[in-house]
Amino acid sequence: MIDGMDWLEHAAGIVAHDAPNAYAAVVPPIVQTSLFTFESYAEMEAVYRGLKQRPAYSRGLNPTTRIFEEKVAALEGTEDALSFASGMAAISSTVLTFVSPGERILAVRNVYPDAYRLFETFAKRMGIRVDYVDGLDEAAVKAALPGARLFYMESPTSWAMEAHDVGALAALAREAGVMTVIDNSWASPVFQNPIALGVDLVLHSASKYLGGHSDVVAGVVAGPSSLVARIRGETHPYLGGKLSPFEGWLLIRGLRTLPIRMKAHEASALTIAQRLKAHEAVEGVSHPGLANALPLGLRGTSGLFSFVFREGVDVVRFTDALSTFSLGVSWGGHESLVVPGAIVRAQAAQPNSAVAFGIHPRSVRLHIGLEGVDLLWRDLEAAIAAATL
Ligand SMILES: *Cc1c(COP(=O)(O)O)cnc(C)c1O
Repeated sequence: MIDGMDWLEHAAGIVAHDAPNAYAAVVPPIVQTSLFTFESYAEMEAVYRGLKQRPAYSRGLNPTTRIFEEKVAALEGTEDALSFASGMAAISSTVLTFVSPGERILAVRNVYPDAYRLFETFAKRMGIRVDYVDGLDEAAVKAALPGARLFYMESPTSWAMEAHDVGALAALAREAGVMTVIDNSWASPVFQNPIALGVDLVLHSASKYLGGHSDVVAGVVAGPSSLVARIRGETHPYLGGKLSPFEGWLLIRGLRTLPIRMKAHEASALTIAQRLKAHEAVEGVSHPGLANALPLGLRGTSGLFSFVFREGVDVVRFTDALSTFSLGVSWGGHESLVVPGAIVRAQAAQPNSAVAFGIHPRSVRLHIGLEGVDLLWRDLEAAIAAATL
């Protein structure tokens, strides 16, 4: 179904313009309104009875955020999508739609830390059991699946960057009758389309690559109409974490350059990962693109990876010596960022949780932005020199 970048660029809206807008504008309007009025009793009744689809109140349907949702559904090669105020709102609404007290979630280990905390705090308080499994160990996944309600996937995993064979894991879950959800934020729809690999629902922190400019916090889930309709009907309106029209508009803008940005992140990050791997101060680099081959279904790599310094390198001095890289969480924007693993480990609420995320104490996570790759490398080289004096 997905063959080549032309299709992606079309879906992202670079080639295709949106449906005609007011004043023949090339960019759709921000429909910044809480409510929409009806022409008559009959029309209002038809909408309330579900006989007619049109916006009534922006907690439900809004024309601007709807354009974003339709673009994401097209990019993921699926029927429908639903937007949220954050990636975590998308994750929590999706999980709570399909899992009830007494049921069990199987999650891959080293998932995004706040997804882990959602499982360990809120889900467990609701009487939902959560087990973790190494997604690289397909025999272990097969053994752990029976009886689970939901298999929660993320590939590659946050920080540890374990890249799974998503299609193989989805097939194991299907055989066991277990529903699958995957966090596809790292690859973006440009490099991985999990629905085509057999996953049931795909979600994104749109705060990362979909937005791409570090000016939005948002989330989205995409999949077949029947599943997305359940989230739209059962949790989205009541948990209430909806996307604002202005942020939907920023995301539409972000999607127009998504394929081009991803190719730039990929090229620069691979170059820097290779140079770090060859550097004497570095013990190892976790970047899926450094393996002999990518897992089936992963068509490229993005700008986020981590590496571990050799013993004796002063990570504090390294961090403070950087000038082009900024010190900050999140990723997926135009700018290059660094996060020292020791800080994330220190923040971990539970004694074992940092270990569960696969974060080495001497590790550093980099997001390679859209700056020139040689400028970035000079910054890293100088900071490593300052840290190994
Ligand atoms: C940031 C992130 C999230 C959470 O998204 P928010 O938009 O910050 O709520 C989920 N998954 C991954 C992999 C992330 O990096």
